[in-house]
Amino acid sequence: MPTIRFAALQESFNRKPVNINLPEKRVSEIFGMHVFNDLSMKENLTPEAYKMVIEAREKGSKISRDVADQVASAMKNWAIQHGVTHYTHWFQPLTGTTAEKHDAFFEPTSTGQAIERFDGSLLVQQEPDASSFPSGGIRNTFEARGYTAWDPTSPAFVMGTTLCIPTVFVSYTGEALDYKTPLLRALQAIDKTATDVCKYFDKNVQRTTATLGWEQEYFLIDKALFNARPDMVLTGRSLLGHAPAKGQQLEDHYFGSIPERVIAFMRELEFECYRLGIPVKTRHNEVAPSQYELAPIYSEANIAVDHNSLIMDLMDKVARRHDFKVLFHEKPFAGVNGSGKHNNWSLSTDTGKNLLSPGKTPKTNLMFLTFFINTIKAVHDHADLLRAAIASASNDHRLGANEAPPAIISVFIGSQLTRVLQELEKVEGKLDPDFKSQLKLNVVGKIPEILLDNTDRNRTSPFAFTGNKFEFRAVGSTANCAQSMTVLNTIVADQLRDFKSETDALIKKGLKKDDAIFNVLRSYITASKNILFEGDGYSDDWKDEAAKRGLSNIPKTPKALDAYVTEKTIELFERNGVMSRIEADARHEILLEEYFKKIQIESRVLGDVAGNHVVPTAIAYQNTLIENVRGLKSVLDEPVFRKVAKEQLEMITEISDRISKILALREEMIEERKIANKINNAREKAIAYCDKVAPFLDKIRYESDKLELIIDDERWPLPKYRELLFSK
Ligand code: ADP
Ligand code: MG
Repeated sequence: MPTIRFAALQESFNRKPVNINLPEKRVSEIFGMHVFNDLSMKENLTPEAYKMVIEAREKGSKISRDVADQVASAMKNWAIQHGVTHYTHWFQPLTGTTAEKHDAFFEPTSTGQAIERFDGSLLVQQEPDASSFPSGGIRNTFEARGYTAWDPTSPAFVMGTTLCIPTVFVSYTGEALDYKTPLLRALQAIDKTATDVCKYFDKNVQRTTATLGWEQEYFLIDKALFNARPDMVLTGRSLLGHAPAKGQQLEDHYFGSIPERVIAFMRELEFECYRLGIPVKTRHNEVAPSQYELAPIYSEANIAVDHNSLIMDLMDKVARRHDFKVLFHEKPFAGVNGSGKHNNWSLSTDTGKNLLSPGKTPKTNLMFLTFFINTIKAVHDHADLLRAAIASASNDHRLGANEAPPAIISVFIGSQLTRVLQELEKVEGKLDPDFKSQLKLNVVGKIPEILLDNTDRNRTSPFAFTGNKFEFRAVGSTANCAQSMTVLNTIVADQLRDFKSETDALIKKGLKKDDAIFNVLRSYITASKNILFEGDGYSDDWKDEAAKRGLSNIPKTPKALDAYVTEKTIELFERNGVMSRIEADARHEILLEEYFKKIQIESRVLGDVAGNHVVPTAIAYQNTLIENVRGLKSVLDEPVFRKVAKEQLEMITEISDRISKILALREEMIEERKIANKINNAREKAIAYCDKVAPFLDKIRYESDKLELIIDDERWPLPKYRELLFSK
């Protein structure tokens, strides 16, 4: 057997759970201890300074230099108590990972000693050497200047011996170079417009925050086996590998018992999360073998996004300590369920109301319906932009692959709410008092407070109402949630502003407030009902039906991304102060570049692995067969030989056949790459990689997977699917 696969298997078979001694502490004793939270701030700041920080967080007001100094000094003292020696501005550049540049607190003094220094200016701004982060042309590399700036809405935290300060990352001229900046702007936009709309129902509402509860799916694979797969190491997914004889058909993994090694990993991860104030709550197996899910309790969207980025980083680190590799890729194994990241989203007021939760009275239910219907209208009007927000090379494998919501955006609301909307659609003009009270009592008043049982059944919808929140299910597992959250909050913010002005206009014309609201909502139901779909989103019928309804179905990223830069989108982003035209263009460029680079790498890696691993193995095995046939020929009479050697001769031919196909396909693929590489326009290049290069990945794989089936197991150099997925 080839040494690497053999050694990896041996190593993984001998593996024991890694038991890290975690302190015997209750969650309540450790929760948030590594976070510079409100309490630590209150204890360490003067009351005036504390008030100013809270105001900055809630109202976006400026923090004076003096207060920044106070916060910095408090942070430093708090951090040093936790053994911290360095600090970093922690940010989320568009590369998809988090970035940090550590600086030590200490500074040498003129007397040859050192002091710990950290003041307001270091807290508020830093200038990392940013030339190697993608900027989509905003910032020329020779200029290389980007700034990170403190985000006081997300608390600083300690990782290891470093104080991490959440920051935004912007260019010298102020353009967003990260995920967080547009998100913060979108959250501000929705705060404004949602609060304005709330005032129709409740004058006390002063602030509205978007909430997010994500559910992260992932695979855990033994480190040694993973490392023996060059394709997985370099691309995060397997480019080769025949499906195992047993897959997920028995459904014995989902909610099955979690293996001990995995439990040990999860326990340590949870411990780390608790200390960082990440309220992880559920853990369970997912559908595929070796697939798991982690979900915290929801929080304000900005914090939840930071927590998700942080946790992906943490998971990677903790997994290594347990000799696992964590895979976030949306489709690490062909033929096996992929991973997603459901984004549960709602709006919550400072009066403690969840705006997507039906209430007890017709009045609160009208408020609920207002936000509910406006969200549907927003999704309807900007379905293509939502599709763009989840587009990536890796998520393309999942969308429309009969396991994940399709690339067609639709909204599932459940039968009860469907009926409510049908009734509401009958509203017209000035409401007759009888009709209105009937409507309020029997329709609006009858929305049950708890809709959960009724709404959560359809798992095939990309955007589903689940009782008290919408769940955006088409988000990819590698994605930064900020992307979908920026778009979702922007489109709903915009929609709510329209709603307010249309309703106000009707009120001005003499309609009562309720009548006006009913009328506008009715018009929205009519305008957006073709986005509502209750059936099986995975079926082919739905594709036809969606086409008839005029809904778009853009299966691949390069063209899906067009929606980022249409005039409609740019105006939307500008109107809501979320992104300028330059920023939208830059993002589009970066996403296209990321797309073709991913396919380019996959194509190169597959060319190498097919050429260096698969073909030589096939040739060696073929030689064995040839020798055997020669031997048979020398000892057997011709007629007997013909009979017994027939199958082996066929195998020899099949191997030759597949080898030539692989080599020919590889040549063709390289040619297509060369053509694509000459294209300068990023969109055209991405399309070329999508249409001309990517199809070779499947074709080469097909031939290789067939070879894997016939070649002597002892010689096959790459850990097989059954080994990767089923060894624990
Ligand atoms: P599943 O989809 O696995 O069945 P649930 O539907 O129970 O799980 O989803 C629960 C997720 O929804 C959790 O992450 C939870 O924190 C989140 N969630 C619950 N309420 C809200 C809300 N108001 N806003 C945002 N997320 C929420
Ligand atoms: Mg879910």
